[in-house]
Amino acid sequence: MTDLTKLTAAETARLIRDGEVSAVDVAQAHFDRIAKVDDRIHAFLHLDTEGALGAARRVDEKRAAGEELGPLAGVPLALKDVLAMKDVPTTCGSKILEGWRPPYDATVVQRLRDADLVILGKTNMDEFAMGSSTENSAYGPTRNPWDTDRIPGGSGGGSAASVAAYQAPLAIGTDTGGSIRQPAAVTGTVGVKPTYGGVSRYGLVAFSSSLDQVGPCARTVLDAALLHSVIAGHDPFDSTSIDQPVPPVVEAARAADVRGLRVGVVKELGGEGFQPGVEQRFNEAVALLTELGAEVVEVSCPHFVYGLPAYYLIAPSECSSNLARFDAMRYGLRVGDDGIRSAEEVMSLTREAGFGAEVKRRIMIGAYALSSGYYEAYYGQAQKVRTLITRDFARAFEQVDVLVSPTTPTTAFRIGERVDDPLAMYKADLCTIPSNLAGNASASFPCGLSPDDGLPVGLHVMAPVMADDRLYRVGAALEAASVQRWGHPLLEEAPEL
Ligand code: GLN
Repeated sequence: MTDLTKLTAAETARLIRDGEVSAVDVAQAHFDRIAKVDDRIHAFLHLDTEGALGAARRVDEKRAAGEELGPLAGVPLALKDVLAMKDVPTTCGSKILEGWRPPYDATVVQRLRDADLVILGKTNMDEFAMGSSTENSAYGPTRNPWDTDRIPGGSGGGSAASVAAYQAPLAIGTDTGGSIRQPAAVTGTVGVKPTYGGVSRYGLVAFSSSLDQVGPCARTVLDAALLHSVIAGHDPFDSTSIDQPVPPVVEAARAADVRGLRVGVVKELGGEGFQPGVEQRFNEAVALLTELGAEVVEVSCPHFVYGLPAYYLIAPSECSSNLARFDAMRYGLRVGDDGIRSAEEVMSLTREAGFGAEVKRRIMIGAYALSSGYYEAYYGQAQKVRTLITRDFARAFEQVDVLVSPTTPTTAFRIGERVDDPLAMYKADLCTIPSNLAGNASASFPCGLSPDDGLPVGLHVMAPVMADDRLYRVGAALEAASVQRWGHPLLEEAPEL
């Protein structure tokens, strides 16, 4: 009997459509897998067993009634705990939201339901998506399935780890500075940050509203594209949502063709601070793209190196404003409400007890950067850098169709290694941040194991705004060529859990 957890999403959906397996059996197989491995991985914060089995049953009934099923109907999915799901706990990895059950579905959740996906549960994350390792979760860290002493990336470590550990074939992540792509790189999975405005943010708990974007996590490029096309598209509930057709991502993933594609290697994203094994695999991936018919040139994006400091002013500034809504009155936790204390005191005690250290650090940095007298020097300056980075992209995309770099400077680091060194932690997002600042589409695709430590490496691909399909062309071509060369998808190399 086939192990239903090892199939791709596309294969799973086909078997369900053809009546070869039931959606209920598929969901149950994934819950069994979660029961077997999640005490070692801790990818999930909450399982919605009843809701998932109910959704799976409805898929089986639809099939039995002869109704047509969508391309991902019945496929299990893990949802990052930063998206509102009606009546299901939504914590954002924070104590301050403990006990909160949203009264509505995020648009993304609604679309997943409409497409008959089966939402297994909510995945662990750095508190309010602030972090690169999932160690900032108030509920304990998630572990990397490749080596459980190492981080799975962050903030969406739970989503990436669940996919890498075969607990779900698909997951939803969010990416403000790299939180889909960096976890994908260090777990050997595919992670895509769509164009800003490509996927609705309605019902996504805001961290930094001008940077946040929802996107797909998967084990194969086609699976990511199928999920992308389910969640993307205009939503009148999100004022920044783009009212244009979704780029042809599934067609691009199926075409898997880079012949004639102009690829620019970003000169500034490499060298000092980059692990030699990561650079080696990156260079091999670029050589492979050349072999496959892409035209590779080197491109300079001189302002990318200022992305990190600009991001760490803009993101905290927006977060200091967004997180003001956690006031002990409207959601979750309330501390010191004894009928004697003032509302201010209750608010202050609740925020003191409910937020973790990193969230407090960001709120303080942001409040400082926005304060009168410092606004221009910090926030205003960072916004200017943002414009320069956007111009770097615009100039580069006059010359090439996509840009590439390693996704991360290093492979997965050890749990605990960077917790006392915020700057070292922040550097994990050096390559991913420019795309958030400029709003263009980007993705990470597996490109082998680093020869120095045997851990996964990611190829980072950046495409212009609303040219998300180009990411999938590159990813799918690379995937097809590497499977041909090495005879297996990367995750088959992972140690058995
Ligand atoms: N690691 C970055 C941060 O800590 C990015 C997080 C994200 O993309 N949500 O802000």
